Formats: sequence, structure tokens, C-alpha cells
Amino acid sequence: MDFDMSMNPQSQIRSALEQEQFLKILSREEALARFQAALFPRAVPSEKRKLGDALGVALAEDITAPIDVPPFDRSNVDGFAVRSADLAAAGEGAPRRLTPNGETIHCGTAPRMQVAAGTATPIATGGPLPRGADAVVMVEHTQPVGSDAIDVRRAVSPGQFVSYAGSDIARGEALLRAGTIIGSREIGMLAACGIAEVLVARKPRVAVVSTGDELVQPGEMLAPAAIYDTNGAIVAAAIDENGGEAIFLGAIPDDETKLESAMRRALAESDMLVLSGGTSKGAGDLSHRIIGRLGQPGIIAHGVALKPGKPLCLAVCDGKPVVILPGFPTSAMFTFHDMIVPVLRKLAGLPPRSDAKVNATVPVRIASELGRTEFVMVSLVEGRDGLIAYPSGKGSGAITSFAQADGFLRIDALADQMQAGTEAEVTLFTPHVRVPDLVIVGSHCTGLDLVTAQLAHAGLTVRSIAVGSLGGLAAARRGECDFAPIHLFDDKSETYNSPYLVEGLELVPGWRRMQGIVFRKDDRRFEGLGAKEAVAAALADPACIMVNRNQGAGTRILIDRLLGGARPEGYWNQPRSHNAVAAAVAQHRADWGMTIAPVAQAAGLGFIPFAEEHYDFALVTARKDRPAVQAFLDALGSNEARAALERVGFRPA
Ligand code: AMP
Ligand code: MG
Repeated sequence: MDFDMSMNPQSQIRSALEQEQFLKILSREEALARFQAALFPRAVPSEKRKLGDALGVALAEDITAPIDVPPFDRSNVDGFAVRSADLAAAGEGAPRRLTPNGETIHCGTAPRMQVAAGTATPIATGGPLPRGADAVVMVEHTQPVGSDAIDVRRAVSPGQFVSYAGSDIARGEALLRAGTIIGSREIGMLAACGIAEVLVARKPRVAVVSTGDELVQPGEMLAPAAIYDTNGAIVAAAIDENGGEAIFLGAIPDDETKLESAMRRALAESDMLVLSGGTSKGAGDLSHRIIGRLGQPGIIAHGVALKPGKPLCLAVCDGKPVVILPGFPTSAMFTFHDMIVPVLRKLAGLPPRSDAKVNATVPVRIASELGRTEFVMVSLVEGRDGLIAYPSGKGSGAITSFAQADGFLRIDALADQMQAGTEAEVTLFTPHVRVPDLVIVGSHCTGLDLVTAQLAHAGLTVRSIAVGSLGGLAAARRGECDFAPIHLFDDKSETYNSPYLVEGLELVPGWRRMQGIVFRKDDRRFEGLGAKEAVAAALADPACIMVNRNQGAGTRILIDRLLGGARPEGYWNQPRSHNAVAAAVAQHRADWGMTIAPVAQAAGLGFIPFAEEHYDFALVTARKDRPAVQAFLDALGSNEARAALERVGFRPA
């Protein structure tokens, strides 16, 4: 929801509530049914295409074979065309002598002479069978006798080594059906029948427009508070993947006049329009208002009970579908695949997409909002009794969750959770399950990538799932991973990690990470101080703002120890990652925080070391012999990885 800054807070809230009332949320099924009813049935427009340009499009006509393939009876081997009756009594001890005819049939040679009793015609593979012959003897099964006879020492059956006319494709046979997607095999069949041009479904031209003042195209400079336009590229690619022809028109600012003219132009030149962003009914969100002026019947659904993807807006303007996808890329993609792809494929004359599905067990409880069909992206790993589906909980704003996930599962609108241990159906993003060679579940560290890089270069696939140290240990105990990276301090023994191991797990030393105070290099307040002095200096200055970490993070324990009960300005700002702390300080939203040395270094910030953490690996002993585990251990101990870790500020154990 965007707010109009010119209104006072009360009228903002009232206006927001009034707008909410317009938002009549439809179920996913209802919205899709209404959208389809407004668009179909309709004929799929078609066009002629040369065979060379027809790859990947849908055939718009049934094709009947115009000729026999092969067009004549043809020899499958190099040898002699014979009459099988001549050789009926031939055997090892009873050779039959045949006289070669005075022609040789090569490929492309039409025979002129008849094979009479007692004769044979030399014939090449692919040569047309001459009149009189009914079988072929392989040249290897004949012996020349002088220059004008051959002996054959085995009987042949009629039809031996002969492919009959039409045995591959018979004239009049239905060769391909309308709706078939033309691939290389189909092109081969058409070429074999001599067909040079086919009638295919014309790809719908789909205009793609991103909306938002904050959007910058990849390749351009990122100004403060701007973000790269992700949806434009991803939506255009997904349209092409599903039979459309995307026409990307760039990002249009949130300006009613500019947006309306862009939308009108886009609709005039295309069969369909897909926008993204600006669908929540706030002051800056204009596209849905403009749609009302673009044609009949206009908006069909605005607000669908989907998560992510609630603000989806579906419209039809004078017969052309107009869609506004939610702004967050993940929401945009889920709604696109779930609600728009079925319509796009129908417009393109393609059959519904058949996504591969597998069953997998969910290892943790997944909370879900009641009343909305929820999509949860998952990473698949091999557990003791089959596949395990880990939810990748990065939220609807995350784009990496799409790239790293293997697929998604669906939680019914009527369920408020999926319990741990549930067997769920996972829709795959790829045709097959790709079970990784090495599975690492636990706390994530950028150093990990430096070690696994060697495995990736050796062709081993590595899946790293970040669930924190404790989550990793639980996964290791269940045998769902090879390694669980952990950094857990035990107060009693004042040691790291080993007190947390249980039977079946063993500790593999990783590296040390220096935790410390980050600040901007030009901030004189912290210059030359130790960590404790730096925090004292920060607490002494009321204008100094901190950035904290989330409860449960190892870093948070260190911060609280340093603060000793103080709650300075910024304490409640509690991001969940080392990088977010560095970004807050670098962007002047905070003046200090605690992060690890390599992150501070990469962000160009000043750093005051405080305490060294042990980042180690709990190895599942039962999986120790796996080649990928050995490869990881080798990589971890290699000079290459140790040097790479040291270069960015880690200290290998
Ligand atoms: P909106 O629906 O326009 O309020 O957008 C919701 C969120 O999605 C905002 O954080 C936008 O910055 C973000 N967003 C909108 N369009 C895009 C886009 N094309 N690429 C990446 N993020 C976007
Ligand atoms: Mg916007």
C-alpha cells in the first residue's frame, strides 16, 4: 500500500480502508475461470512458416503424409538383390551359384534390368529393389567365383533386408496433429515427406511493461533508493518459454499520463499486455485505474487469494488480455506461472504445460495464511527414506529463492499450516529431480562458497541450505545432509561447537571468523579504539545510532555482552544477516554494528576486531564414505581453499 504524503494520517487510513473495500478477493479457481470465460473460445490465429523457422511453435493443422516413405522397396544392406526361391535349398555344404546381372544399383539409381531365375543384381544400401527380386543377400555372405558368378551358402527368406515402400510412413497416414509442438523429430518427419512449409499457430505478441519510479534497467547505474528492474527480464523470458513473443517496452514511471500512453501504445501493437508493479490500490498505483479506460469489459479480478500474489489484477480490454502482476519478483513469477501461463499457452495453441511432480517429506512445520492458496518454494535433498523438501523461506521479495529452489509445493487455502513430516507433492521447475551430490544444511558463510567452488569445478553438485546452526544440527541428526556448518558457543565449557555434537556426528574443523564493530572509515568517533571503548564511545553520544542483529544469532550474543544491558537508539533494528548490518552502516542508516571481518572489508567499512568465532562442520559419520564428502574434505584442506579463505579475511583452522 502506498500512502499519499499530502494527506493527514487519519484521512490516509480512511482512504486506504475505502480502497480496500473495492478489493474483492476471489479464489484462485474463480479468478482463473472468469478470466478464461472472458477470453475463450477463440480461434488461434495461424501463419505459414518454412520448416527452418518452425522449431518450437505449435502446428495449426493436421498433417497427412503425401507420399510413402520410403517411396520404393529399398535394400538395407550392401549385397545382391536375389529371388529367395533360388536360394531355398542353399546351405553350408550346398552352395547355389548365381550370375550377376550387368548393372549395379547405387542410391539414386533406378534399376533397368529384371532379376531372372539364377541371377542377382549388385545393390548398395538404400538402392531400389529391381523387378523380380524379393530379398537381398549381404555381400559378406557371398563368395565370388571367377569374375562372373557368386556362390551363396545360406538360404534367405523372402523380404530379407528389404524395407518396403511406406513401411516407415504410409501415404495418407496422419503424420502430425494440430497442437503438436514442432521439435527436431517433427521437422525430420516433415522433411522426409517433402513438406517445406507448415501452418502453425502464430505466437501471441505480448507487450511487457514494468512500472515504478524506482526501476533502473540492468546495465545502468543504480542511484540511491533505486532497484534493478527484475520483472521486465524475467517476465519476458517466461513469455518466450511459454509460446509467446515478448516485446519488452521498458519501465514506465508512476505517472498516469505517461503510463496510459505507454499502455495504449502497447495494446495497439500486441495481442496481450503484461504489466508488473503498482497493483496495490495506493495513490501511486495507477495501472488498474487506467485499464478501466482501455476497453471492455475491463477488470475481471483484482485481488486473488494467493500467497504470494494477492494483488494480481486480471483484465480483458476489447478482447485482449491485460494483466498486472504484483511488483515483487517472486510474487510476479508465481502468479504468472499459475494464472497467466494457462491462458498464454491457449492463445499460442499449445497444450497445457505438464510439469513434473514428485512426492517429498517436509522436515519442518510451515505456517500458512488461512484463506489463501500458498506456494512455498523448496529445495530437494535425499533423506534416509526418500526425498526431503526444505522450504526456502526468503519471502516474496526474494529472487534467488527461485533460482536455488527445485520446485514448489502448495498449501491449500483452507489449511493454516503444513505439519512437519507431511508428505507433499512438489512441482518441479525442471523435468527431473536433480539430487545434489553434496548437501550442506546449517549456518551459511560466504567462506563456504570458496571451498565448494572446487567441487563445482570438478562437476559435483552442491546444495547449501541456510537454516542456522541449530536447524543444521537437527537435519544432520535426521541424516538429511552430509555436513551441518555450525558456530555455537557453549557457555559452560567456554568452547565452540564440540559440546553440541551427538552420536553419529563428528566435528570437522572449518575456519575462524573475526567478529567486530563496523563503522564508516571517516567516522572519527571510533578511530583507534578497541571494541569495548568503541561501544562506550557510541553509548556516550546520543546521536550515534546502532544496528543490532536478530535474536538467536551468534553475533547478537556478542553484541548483548558488549552492551551490558544498554538499549541505545537503533537497538530494535534487528536484521538477519551480516551483510544487512554492513549495508545499514554504509548507507548512514546506522553508525555502528557488529559483523564479520570479510563482510566489513567487502563493504569498504572500518573494522574493530572483537572475538573470533569457530565456524566448523558437523559431519554425518554414516555418510563419510560418499565421494562428494571426501571431495569436500579434500577441498577444505587444500592450499587453494585455505589461501582463498585467508584472502577475504577468514582464518582456516
Ligand atoms: P508495487 O506493487 O509497485 O508497490 O511494488 C511492490 C514491490 O515490488 C516494491 O518493492 C517494488 O520496488 C518492487 N518491484 C516492482 N516492480 C519491480 C520490478 N520490475 N523489478 C523488481 N522489483 C519490482
Ligand atoms: Mg510500484
